[in-house]
Amino acid sequence: MQYSIALLPMCLVSMKNFLDTTYIKNADLKNFCTFKIGGKAKHLFIVQSNDALLNVCYYCNSHNIRYKIIGIGANLLFDDKGYNGAIIINQSKNFMFKKNYLYCDAGVNISTLISESIKRNLSGLEYFSLIPSTIGGAVVNSLGAFDHRFFDLIERVICYKKSDPKKRVILSKNDCKFGYRTSIFKADEFIITRVKLKLKFDDKSEILKRMKHCLNKKSSTQPIKDFSAGSVFKRSTLIPAKVIDELGLKGKQIGGAEISKKHSGFIINRENASAMDVLNLIKYINDIVYKKFNQKFELEIEFVPFN
Ligand SMILES: Cc1cc2nc3c(=O)[nH]c(=O)nc-3n(C[C@H](O)[C@H](O)[C@H](O)COP(=O)(O)OP(=O)(O)OC[C@H]3O[C@@H](n4cnc5c(N)ncnc54)[C@H](O)[C@@H]3O)c2cc1C
Repeated sequence: MQYSIALLPMCLVSMKNFLDTTYIKNADLKNFCTFKIGGKAKHLFIVQSNDALLNVCYYCNSHNIRYKIIGIGANLLFDDKGYNGAIIINQSKNFMFKKNYLYCDAGVNISTLISESIKRNLSGLEYFSLIPSTIGGAVVNSLGAFDHRFFDLIERVICYKKSDPKKRVILSKNDCKFGYRTSIFKADEFIITRVKLKLKFDDKSEILKRMKHCLNKKSSTQPIKDFSAGSVFKRSTLIPAKVIDELGLKGKQIGGAEISKKHSGFIINRENASAMDVLNLIKYINDIVYKKFNQKFELEIEFVPFN
């Protein structure tokens, strides 16, 4: 059931933000992530501007409601029990180019920015084609593809402390402590609102050529049409897909979850998988890997527990 936010006891919400916010009670989380798995969130807000995002965060704080901001939910495995709090889907969508600089809201989809930058002969984002992500998700997770790192493009990140959504913080790239699929934001203490990126002018045909190369490589090697949350495990001294292949686990299924036959680093929701099926399959893989290599794979996907 959908309500306008104005029906909530929210004296803090202005008319402008009422237009930018949708509230759903007991929302089915499987509809808001690429894995298509998860129970119900007690509260779900969809916000379309930074003001609305900050107001909802402020509201949750002042009502002691635990909350998590998400983008497309492309890296998340929600609990079968759901989420005992508020999931805030950030769809803030403003962006602006100034010469080769791009100023964008965290809720903008990276695919929109790829096409907008190509129109302006700007290079840098084309390597991330076909990856489901908002800019916020790309910052938090330190998105990467084909040896290209999203954080190399970042000039600064504008955010707010979750504990004080009224106080703006401007972080430089160094402040963000980016690494392989990690950043300062992984601790879930910040609300990211806006990001400044530095792109490079280049020949449009060259940018398009690189984009096509990435598109072809990704679509021919990864199960992009199946429901998943991308690569399940981080690379270490072991390359997960290679190891899983060599252990003969490709195609292994537990319940509705399956190790993709196209790319062993992905677990796909083959048929109504539960989060428990996915977690059991992860444990199954890691138990075998531990026996053989005396180490376990670290998760790249994020499990979001009920409590
Ligand atoms: C088919 C497929 C292919 C993929 N390929 C790749 C790949 O090549 N490379 C790669 O790196 N990843 C890949 N991924 C994983 C995923 O696309 C990335 O992790 C992506 O950056 C997630 O973005 P999102 O907007 O969906 O973030 P979400 O999954 O919604 O959120 C990710 C994290 O960011 C936090 N977050 C999001 N927005 C904000 C905000 N505004 N403020 C504070 N916190 C926030 C969330 O709380 C969560 O902790 C793939 C996934 C799929 C399904």
